[in-house]
Amino acid sequence: MEQLVLSAPGRAEWTEVPAPGLAGGADALVRPIAVATCDLDTAINAGAFPLPLPYALGHEFVAEVVEVSAGVTSVRTGDRVAVPFQINCGDCAFCRRGLTQSCTTVPRGSAYGLGVIGLGDWGGAVADLIRVPYADAMLLPLPSGVDPAAVASLDNLPDGWRTVAPYLDDLDDKRVLVVGGISIGLYAVAVARALGADVTYVDGHPRRTEDAAILGASVVAPGAGKVGRFPVTVSTSGTREGLLLALDSTEPGGVCTDTGVFIGDVALPLGQLYTTGIRFVTGRVAARHELPSVLDLVASGRLDPGVVTATTAAWSDAPAAWSTHRDKLVLIR
Ligand SMILES: [Zn+2]
Ligand SMILES: [Zn+2]
Repeated sequence: MEQLVLSAPGRAEWTEVPAPGLAGGADALVRPIAVATCDLDTAINAGAFPLPLPYALGHEFVAEVVEVSAGVTSVRTGDRVAVPFQINCGDCAFCRRGLTQSCTTVPRGSAYGLGVIGLGDWGGAVADLIRVPYADAMLLPLPSGVDPAAVASLDNLPDGWRTVAPYLDDLDDKRVLVVGGISIGLYAVAVARALGADVTYVDGHPRRTEDAAILGASVVAPGAGKVGRFPVTVSTSGTREGLLLALDSTEPGGVCTDTGVFIGDVALPLGQLYTTGIRFVTGRVAARHELPSVLDLVASGRLDPGVVTATTAAWSDAPAAWSTHRDKLVLIR
């Protein structure tokens, strides 16, 4: 079968690889029908993140079930399913605690379409077939009426979700600051707005600020100075400056989440964090754990992540579309 591979920054091409088969009693084979570029893919494609190449592309995707092993009971051939990018068994001590990003049944960090970061040969989703182990734990039927392309970004969308959703219920003062950059910040805006928060969004990128405004955020240009104090703050900028702005703008007792993948050590103002009692959250998203809540909110009609995935391309145009993308892209079969 054909699989899309990034052989150099800005050069995605089809390669011929053996099709996967069912390898165990808990497996499913699925056919991806909508694949989104992750913010990390976009950085790698631009040569801005040092991932060894080539790697098989695609880890954010919705698929159709093609075949299941005898032991699989929760999905059937023909079902449309959300597929978490992280491989998780659902049954180890970490999975049972909801830490599906740290499943210990597979090498920690195992994921589709992330090359050496994804540990092991799980394949990339821009292909005709993907093998899903632990299918009953991994796969989630897509609620009816949910557009596969709108929710295909099944890494960045739950990543945005976890920065705000766990904290808003307990607050009367639902105000959120998002220091943007890449798509996770826009998903954080969309989720916070869907859950009734007032959102301030800091970014200078023309398309993203337009999207944030469409989603109902108040947009502030970077460098405008203090933006106030918020009980919930988020930095998706991937920069120390953005992170410090978010921390500086967090109320005492508030929570600040950073989704950046920093390489090396980054100094933090620990004295300030101590005296203000700010909770600082970072780390990889537990995608499978968050997916039911995210999809329920989309199915309810309150959350429409589609504004972030407005750029689409046909499957047959995948090499050119992926090679030239600079912003969130969804390939549709
Ligand atoms: Zn990703
Ligand atoms: Zn596990």
